[in-house]
Amino acid sequence: MNMRDLIRLMKALDREVANCSRCGICQSVCPLYAVTGDESDVARGKIMLLSGLMTSFFENPHGVRQRLDRCLLCGACAAACPRGVNTLELFLTARGIIAGYEGLSLVKKLIFRRILSNPRVFDRVMEWASRWQSLVLKKSDIPAGSCGTLVSPLLSHRHLAPLAMVPFHKMLPEQTQLPGRSGMRVAFFVGCLLDKVFPKVAIDIGRVLTAHGFQVIIPPDQGCCGIPALAAGDQASFQRLASHNLDRFDPLTFDFLVTGCATCTAAIKKIWPAMVNAASPDQSAAVARISEKTYDVMQFLVEVAGVRPSGQEREIVGGPIITYHDPCHLRKTLNISSQPRIVLSASGAGRFVEMPDAGSCCGMGGSFNLAHYDLSTAIGEKKVACIEASGASIVATGCPACMIQLADMLARQKDHVQVVHVMELYAENILESAPGPK
Ligand code: SF4
Ligand code: SF4
Repeated sequence: MNMRDLIRLMKALDREVANCSRCGICQSVCPLYAVTGDESDVARGKIMLLSGLMTSFFENPHGVRQRLDRCLLCGACAAACPRGVNTLELFLTARGIIAGYEGLSLVKKLIFRRILSNPRVFDRVMEWASRWQSLVLKKSDIPAGSCGTLVSPLLSHRHLAPLAMVPFHKMLPEQTQLPGRSGMRVAFFVGCLLDKVFPKVAIDIGRVLTAHGFQVIIPPDQGCCGIPALAAGDQASFQRLASHNLDRFDPLTFDFLVTGCATCTAAIKKIWPAMVNAASPDQSAAVARISEKTYDVMQFLVEVAGVRPSGQEREIVGGPIITYHDPCHLRKTLNISSQPRIVLSASGAGRFVEMPDAGSCCGMGGSFNLAHYDLSTAIGEKKVACIEASGASIVATGCPACMIQLADMLARQKDHVQVVHVMELYAENILESAPGPK
């Protein structure tokens, strides 16, 4: 990043920083502050740091970066802020400025520039990893997933959801033939985790959309939504991934775009319009149109397909007790919380019991979980206590990253609560006779 770009970004940052009144309301909702009690972890603390960025970052860019990296990017502060300070964009922009000035580490360059931003290379690396994962993962009797036995200090003692042996994109020939009845075309942005870890969820989404009469379009060669790169400050890889996906999702060819991943939905709907540096007016218009057409799949089922609650949950006898965890990027960033509960109700999969504090963060936060596993675990353990308080045997959610974190946290407690995506329950209970692969 050249100096002119840096100064342009800093000026944009300054304008947003100036909106903060330092009221401190964000402190009460920050999941990180709740476990550290450290004011500098709160949005207000970070904003005060950023208000002196012009000087502090030239003096100690590494220190500023470390402070900014202590954040789950959960959006709770942005959702609660009475001044409408867009803390997520602020922190992402600041990370980009610092990475642009300091440079990325070799490992991050390899991961983001060489692998993630080249979707075919990423696919090959993950396929290779799936073949060899049995050497480092052993089967667990805990439904949450396999036990990680990696020697790496970053990953030891973790319970990792295994990579799928066959990723969803390898099943595409079957999926693209799914018929539609309504005349409406729905593009499905699959996302890395549904493709490579939870392909069954992606299959279920395709089946459900088809059964509701939509033609499902699944463009091949999809890439990551770009958020992991952006969160690492790698704006170049983010731009490259956004362009890659924009080339494959022409908004003129579909009526709606859905995802089954809270983070992908938030990225396409909110982050792309704010942070994609469009190469042309046409690309800028495409970003805006795609954003307008993008729905979380559960929101889509309720608001477009007309799914309604069954109203019979309390009469279900003998079925499992199900609770729901709100992914931050659905509830706080996109204000989506009633729709997943309606889909759960419509599924008739069991008796729904609301857990206390269902909207609290699970502690995942993407790379935050890798860099600050101790803090991630402290936040996750609170979530486990909430799940246990509900008495549920199944916790459903709408984000594959949350699924991985919840499974790890539950397995650490040797807890046998099963973690599922809402769409799995809906597909299992509503679509026994629906077409498509089971
Ligand atoms: S709630 Fe908003 S205005 Fe108040 S301190 Fe936090 S970011 Fe600033
Ligand atoms: S994004 Fe979440 S973790 Fe980060 S400062 Fe805001 S509330 Fe705290």
